[in-house]
Amino acid sequence: MRVCRFDDILPDTGVCALVEREQVAVFRIQDSIHAVGNRDPFSQANVLSRGIVADLKGELVVASPVYKQHFSLLTGRCIEDASVRIPVYAARVEDGFVHVEPKKEVATTCCYCGVGCGVLAAVSKDEIFAVRGDPSHPANFGRLCSKGLSLHEADPSFRALYPEVDGRRVSWDAALDRIANQFRQTIEEHGPDAVAFYISGQLLTEDYYVFNKLAKGLLGTNNIDTNSRLCMASAVAAYKQTLGADAPPSCYEDIEAAECIFIAGSNTAWAHPILFQRIETAAPRHLIVVDPRRTETARAATLHLQIAPGSDIALFNGMLQVMLREGWCDLEYIRRHTENFERLDLAGDWAAICGIAENKIVEAARLFATSRATLSLYCQGLNQSSSGTAKNAALINLHLATGQIGRPGAGPFSLTGQPNAMGGREVGGMANLLSAHRDLNNAEHRQEIANLWGVRSVPERPGKTAVEMFEAVRQGAIKAIWIACTNPAQSLPDQNLVHEALERAELVVVQDAYRNTETAAYADVFLPAAGWGEKEGTMTNSERRISRVRAVVPPPGEARADWRIVVDFARKVDGGRLFPYQRPEEIFNEHRETTRGRDLDVSGLSYALLDERGPQQWPFPAGAAAGRKRLYEDGRFATPSGRARFVPTPFTPVAEDTDDEYPLRLTTGRLRDQWHSMSRTGTMSRAFAHEPEPRVMVHPEDLTKLALKQGELVRITSRRGELVVAVAADADLLPGTVFLAMHWGGRHLGGRGINALTIGALDPLSRQPELKHCAVRIEPARLPWRLVASAPAANASALMQEIEPVMRGVPYALRTLDGVGVRLSLAAEKPVSQQLLKWLGAVFEQGSVEVGDAARAAARGRTLCNCFGVAESEIDAFAAASKSLAELQAKLRCGTNCGSCLPELRRKLASW
Ligand code: SF4
Repeated sequence: MRVCRFDDILPDTGVCALVEREQVAVFRIQDSIHAVGNRDPFSQANVLSRGIVADLKGELVVASPVYKQHFSLLTGRCIEDASVRIPVYAARVEDGFVHVEPKKEVATTCCYCGVGCGVLAAVSKDEIFAVRGDPSHPANFGRLCSKGLSLHEADPSFRALYPEVDGRRVSWDAALDRIANQFRQTIEEHGPDAVAFYISGQLLTEDYYVFNKLAKGLLGTNNIDTNSRLCMASAVAAYKQTLGADAPPSCYEDIEAAECIFIAGSNTAWAHPILFQRIETAAPRHLIVVDPRRTETARAATLHLQIAPGSDIALFNGMLQVMLREGWCDLEYIRRHTENFERLDLAGDWAAICGIAENKIVEAARLFATSRATLSLYCQGLNQSSSGTAKNAALINLHLATGQIGRPGAGPFSLTGQPNAMGGREVGGMANLLSAHRDLNNAEHRQEIANLWGVRSVPERPGKTAVEMFEAVRQGAIKAIWIACTNPAQSLPDQNLVHEALERAELVVVQDAYRNTETAAYADVFLPAAGWGEKEGTMTNSERRISRVRAVVPPPGEARADWRIVVDFARKVDGGRLFPYQRPEEIFNEHRETTRGRDLDVSGLSYALLDERGPQQWPFPAGAAAGRKRLYEDGRFATPSGRARFVPTPFTPVAEDTDDEYPLRLTTGRLRDQWHSMSRTGTMSRAFAHEPEPRVMVHPEDLTKLALKQGELVRITSRRGELVVAVAADADLLPGTVFLAMHWGGRHLGGRGINALTIGALDPLSRQPELKHCAVRIEPARLPWRLVASAPAANASALMQEIEPVMRGVPYALRTLDGVGVRLSLAAEKPVSQQLLKWLGAVFEQGSVEVGDAARAAARGRTLCNCFGVAESEIDAFAAASKSLAELQAKLRCGTNCGSCLPELRRKLASW
């Protein structure tokens, strides 16, 4: 678009132009022209065209006239905070006139949680500089939560740019040759089960498909499992046990149709924020929340059942017992559409096990059974358990017994944790699955897949599941492991075992977009992968809806799409016979063929249809006009008899009970703004603002009992490991239960992070580990010497790396990002050496190093609203004078954009 004459701009000055309703600052630097967004992201004022342009350490920048931050005219990045960026526009001079290209928006999908929100990514000059919710996407209708809204802000200094072997940069050919040779040799000497793949629910369906085919079709091993084992395995096992297929029967529209929503084991307000906003808007008559913590989700409940950790089966069995006694079951539905009801044994003192009053169980049973339509939503609180399958099945038993299934607003609906855990299951990308929901134990199914792939056979013996896989690596049965797009050295339970396994493995291949994960430190071969916004494919969200993911910008450096890496490797092994793909669409089309005639039939879908008509739900067979919203509406289930199966669910206690030595129950969960092991969100200072440091939350009664003071550092010890963190009072917990966020690993927190404590006890069917519960003790850490250092960092990754040695040398070390840059906190029994202090002084030369007790105090405290940077202290100050949310929003703007902070704002106002 032509904006003005070149000569109208004085040399080394700027002007403001309107380019398709966007204010653009256009600068003339001698004979060249540069264009960036006019808005200063710190002050929100449209002032940058009036800023001073200069050369700052070799980088052409504009200084904001308001707060004086500098922004690169070439990349848009803020020099003082690499996670902040302004848009850069393509600009040129033609025939004496300045032309600026308007931004373009590309529709794609959020890569974080299983809600699967549609995103419009604004691109200019091969950079994504803004995102907004896609108003036409049926998962979010234009909304994005705080994580989705920061998708484009991940700091590129943390990205992996080129392949490495033994820590040295090599060509792609050399890296893939090394893997091919070592895999070949290992298989020749020890058989195919001596190699393994540990992949991820963050991969796209096409990536997953080729990984699965590589392991099972080409190399001949079922040793391929994913971090979905930590996420949805129990939900899958229970769906298959009860309804006959791994297919969530409900859809998001059921939220509006439900009279009663029953949330169990999910802090939806933080883990699936856009879905929670939909629930709040729908305002169901009854909102029952089952959670041992009074979370933001529980606070919104009309009935909160604060049960003892791990007692969900007792609650569900108790509810069914009451329903039968009171005549609230739908006996006709049970007779016509189910089997095995007579096998249930519901006798037990369930209220005592749950630790709640009997009348609460009766009330929950009444509302669940007698509401016009009851929808249950559940997640890791049920899944991450050594009896996770039974917990899921016990909840599904309630739906079957009351006929609350297969109708608008009624049904069990597992919320998928990861963005594409379901896509991975669709292609059979796990150790005990086969493509398109086929059964690995079924010889006919194995042969069907072998025929479709053009191989003689598919291995029969199930592979090792996640935790078992690392145990086998530690024992030497698996010698070479390829880890893609996941961070097991942070996320698996019992981290000492995992680190030992990675140390002992003969070959560790790590394929990731980020170079700094805990797992990457063990890579013999590192393969740089494309990240969000850089690759093409599809993902399936919680409601079986397949969305297109689009490559908006090229990957940095030599990074390649995950599917491409697998195909390039496979060609080294078999010359490309089984992997002829040039584009991900060809992979999707092959996957589509495997689904023909199956329960998840997508033979009617294509990239063209998804591009033209938007995201679609499966099944979508050839010839169908649309996908199916909800399943089992005709009362016919995916079992051989067509009847849903009741499953007896005797109560099983948690794997590790408390005792005198470990008297407290540790439960884990998510933070609002962080994702998994923080490989991506942990590169953005904004993501740390809401919860700047790891804290163990302890009930005030326990604080008193243990003689601990709010904020002091404590040592938490389990039978497997220990860590040191600050303690905080939390009356929302049950006495005797403590809480830690799941995200903090050894990269941010010294030691091996929170999973040094957790237990690898597995569910007998799903093989999902009990990440939600273990026994611990807490005692004062007694580390009086404190240090806090922080400095701005144009390359935060390099500074984080530089201070790595300090992280291992003191009892407490924390490395994060804050509004200034990199922040390091240390604590020890006595002062560290003068030499180390001097070194730290030099490393943090641009910032500050404070030593002493006061050094730990944070000036502003937590930031509740990330969109507008509103601190908790500011909200407290407002709340002292007014309790009006509308007034608060009008004054500070908090809660007016993504809405992720709204539950907490309401709570703050109500508490004054
Ligand atoms: Fe992404 Fe948030 Fe939507 Fe989840 S709820 S898909 S994290 S925007």
